[in-house]
Amino acid sequence: MRPALVVHGGAWDIPGVAVDACRAGCRRALEAGHRVLDAGGAAMDAVEAAIVVLEEDPVFDAGFGSHLNLRGRVQLDAILMEGETLNAGAVAAVERVRNPIRLARRVLEASRHVLLVGEGAEEFAREQGMPLCRPEELVTESQRAAWQVCREAGHDSAAHFAREHGTVGAVAIDVAGRIAAGTSTGGTCCKYPGRVGDSPLIGCGCYADNEAGGAASTGWGEAIMKIVMAKTAIDWLREGHEPQEVADRAIRLLRERVEGTGGLILVDRQGRIGASFSTPHMAHGYRNANGEFVVFP
Ligand code: ASP
Repeated sequence: MRPALVVHGGAWDIPGVAVDACRAGCRRALEAGHRVLDAGGAAMDAVEAAIVVLEEDPVFDAGFGSHLNLRGRVQLDAILMEGETLNAGAVAAVERVRNPIRLARRVLEASRHVLLVGEGAEEFAREQGMPLCRPEELVTESQRAAWQVCREAGHDSAAHFAREHGTVGAVAIDVAGRIAAGTSTGGTCCKYPGRVGDSPLIGCGCYADNEAGGAASTGWGEAIMKIVMAKTAIDWLREGHEPQEVADRAIRLLRERVEGTGGLILVDRQGRIGASFSTPHMAHGYRNANGEFVVFP
């Protein structure tokens, strides 16, 4: 079958100055993922490759350049799931891992667990021979300055609202019909230390099942968790609903049932794509039937 990939760089109110950078970042991620898929590679490799590009890009709230938490530190969460066996690997609240999606993959492939957090996750990274960075290496000057503004405003929600969303995610189906999904985030701006949102939780931040499709979420994690958004969407795909209809319905449920805002990207088992969001923008993109990348900020 023809492979497909969709990526997102977060559902939020993207300021005008960041639009080009978001668009360019999504395009680079699509290129990286499609290089893998076009060479006959696995969906999981494509998702990992796309997310590494987004983690490395400081315009997104994942990896380098993530939002700082209340104490001024970056704490990262990520998950990778593959739809053949329903195996998933995830990490949360890690401070010394530059590409948490790579560590999530190690958890999936080399541990008996699904989710490792904090120091334990970093110890596992060390055991796996992954390089650890200093926490300061994940902090950009602009995020430090933004954190300072929030702090001076007493962490009033209005001060950091516009910077709350920028998580990244990817969903792919490969030539063999294998589906994978992944999500990586620095979480919400000025979150409480140790706070974990939906992103690294199976069924919330992402879900993948070869029998139905794959999904990746973004938005207000505390609300997304309550409706287990990614798995809920996959259940609707399994019932035979169209991907776009499913994405819209999930975002409607998020708003109407738990007053949440956010976005969702989807691929069904035929490689059809859906994307929906209730925020002013969601940076996202995919390749259309003509082989061109379509990228929306
Ligand atoms: N869902 C993420 C979280 O709550 C944030 C985001 O998607 O921007 O941590």
